[in-house]
Amino acid sequence: MDWATLEPSLNLTEIGEQAYRLIAELYPLCRSITGEGVRQTLAIVQQHIPLTVHEVPTGTRVFDWTVPKEWEIRDAYIKNAKGERIVDFRNSNLHVVSYSAPVRGKISLTELKEHLFSLPDRPDWIPYRTSYYKENWGFCLTHNQLLSLDGESYEVLIDSSLRAGQLTYGEFYLPGTTRDEVLLTSHICHPSLCNDNLSGIALLTLLAKLLASQPRCYSYRFLFIPGTIGSITWLARNEARVRRIKHGLVLACVGDPGHSSYKKSRRGDAEIDQAVRHVLEHLGQEYEILDFSPYGYDERQFCSPGFNLPVGCLMRTPHGRFPEYHTSADNLDLVRPECLADSFSKCLAILNVLENNRTYLNQNPKCEPQLGKRGLYSTMGGQAEARVNELAMLWVLNLSDGMHTLLDIANRSGVAFDTLQRAAQALLQHGLLKECVKAASRPPRTSENEGKMNPTAIGDTRRKGSKR
Ligand SMILES: [Zn+2]
Repeated sequence: MDWATLEPSLNLTEIGEQAYRLIAELYPLCRSITGEGVRQTLAIVQQHIPLTVHEVPTGTRVFDWTVPKEWEIRDAYIKNAKGERIVDFRNSNLHVVSYSAPVRGKISLTELKEHLFSLPDRPDWIPYRTSYYKENWGFCLTHNQLLSLDGESYEVLIDSSLRAGQLTYGEFYLPGTTRDEVLLTSHICHPSLCNDNLSGIALLTLLAKLLASQPRCYSYRFLFIPGTIGSITWLARNEARVRRIKHGLVLACVGDPGHSSYKKSRRGDAEIDQAVRHVLEHLGQEYEILDFSPYGYDERQFCSPGFNLPVGCLMRTPHGRFPEYHTSADNLDLVRPECLADSFSKCLAILNVLENNRTYLNQNPKCEPQLGKRGLYSTMGGQAEARVNELAMLWVLNLSDGMHTLLDIANRSGVAFDTLQRAAQALLQHGLLKECVKAASRPPRTSENEGKMNPTAIGDTRRKGSKR
């Protein structure tokens, strides 16, 4: 993959609209951590990419967890004395607490209220609630609906079942020239909620579709998994494969108008952490870098100490920090095609850094090579860019001692990665550089040699300086 050739050919407006259309198509489905909603979601994703769907039986032990019963929901309502459905699952699947056990009968308002959830501060919004690991039932409704309940008793129905079944997840593997992998994941377990989490599913699908058409150094693994239990299940079934994962990103909340945020991996200084920071820093937009914490999306499992994978989480406004989070207001009005397109473009820029972050050796290390006589000052762009390009070549030549990757050079010089990438290409063509290790046989970057690849104290200072 080469950003310089890829970027001009991208129609980001169309990609944003495609992502939005996919969100709109997935929006009505009632997803949960298991069940038909997940299967229907994966079937729609399969219309875009040849996803493999895995089914793992209820009761399967996965580390300290057990694959739960499969939940199915057909209908649910609260009826008043006139027989009117005053809370109706058919109007919004958020009305039922996800994983509710079945219930049917007439109950008093007092008893009913113990099973009702609303948001007094947002009286027109329906909250999203789950009860995955404790058998219970409940309804979510607007606070205005709750206040209007004045009858003595109500008829309630939750026509659901909790039975031995399957946990379903989707996986798509794209081989590259090396078996080293980039892991890209999104959770798929939320019902009608757009930013968290349909934006992640849509972006992951379109990224997979595009990467399938590009030359790739890394192999890519895309996981569409129910949150928490899905990543735990995948890790339990693929423990032997995990060492191939060199970089990873969890995509969540990537469609709202807020600025981009990135939550670092547990390691904090992994190549993915540096790559994301570099891309966000050089775009000139507002952004935020968050330290790792053991709370959030599936990075929690990938970054558990037994795995400690270099997996961060790319978001716009982080979960819990936009008022619409986990409510019916996280709807088709909250996510925007242009924001989805912007997140998509950032993902590609990050992957471009990973794909092209090579280490070179200067073939003329004793004093500077004479660039002018090789025509190198004029081969890269016009007058305005000449100074930047010359500086980029000088940085690449100076730090290409076999110890610095292009990203290290970018961090130390302040020059954008893609400018350095073009400079390195020009120098390679003139025989002034040689790649240290062939991409196909890149050694695995263990935590021991990771430190050696990022030795720049100046780069560290710059990074601290730009942290928000
Ligand atoms: Zn959520």
